[in-house]
Amino acid sequence: MSDAYASIQSRIAAAAIAAGRPPEAVTLVAVSKQQPWEHIAPVLAAGQRVFGENRVQEAMGRWRDDRDQVELRLIGPLQTNKAAEAVAFFDVIESLDREKLARVLAAEIARQGKTPRLYVQVNIGEEPQKAGVAPAETDGFLRLCRDLGLPIEGLMCIPPADEAPEPYFTALAALAARNGLEKLSMGMSDDFEAAIACGATSVRVGSAIFGRR
Ligand SMILES: *Cc1c(COP(=O)(O)O)cnc(C)c1O
Repeated sequence: MSDAYASIQSRIAAAAIAAGRPPEAVTLVAVSKQQPWEHIAPVLAAGQRVFGENRVQEAMGRWRDDRDQVELRLIGPLQTNKAAEAVAFFDVIESLDREKLARVLAAEIARQGKTPRLYVQVNIGEEPQKAGVAPAETDGFLRLCRDLGLPIEGLMCIPPADEAPEPYFTALAALAARNGLEKLSMGMSDDFEAAIACGATSVRVGSAIFGRR
């Protein structure tokens, strides 16, 4: 099995235990986007079953033959014209970030009779170049999702690069708590241990497992 994969698994377990939580409380989402299959196959063979992808078409091509044995999460921006394919293909969509997309997803879910688990992406650092609902608008956006019948499982964020991430992780945890949401998708290769300390229930780790993209 891949040494890098084993090492990330043990670091996740150690961070969970240090935070007073069982290792199973944190799901590893192995981010396979842009990786050659030779990098993914050993990790799949080692038993990893949850993978993250950021493009709908790319994910459909990569996972066509192995779709049934894995849970696939869309973690990248979703255009409304790809919403039908995303609902059909993914188990989880973590990038619900605007009203128009919420309305299109609600319509597709009704049409297909299939409901992916959904996370609302929050632009926790209020960065103009980043996707996500503004923190101050998150409560209202979650109400809208509820009114549309969309079951929201949790919140997702990508904090600003080159800053200590803890205040952003803590802010996302507070937003989730006050909206009664238990799931927090936060933490990547460089900061997943900090995210677990702040309450992450899933971490999205790519390059630290598979190598540089
Ligand atoms: C690419 C990506 C990741 C993984 O990033 P690494 O730094 O390679 O771990 C996590 N989350 C999102 C949203 C991504 O686009």
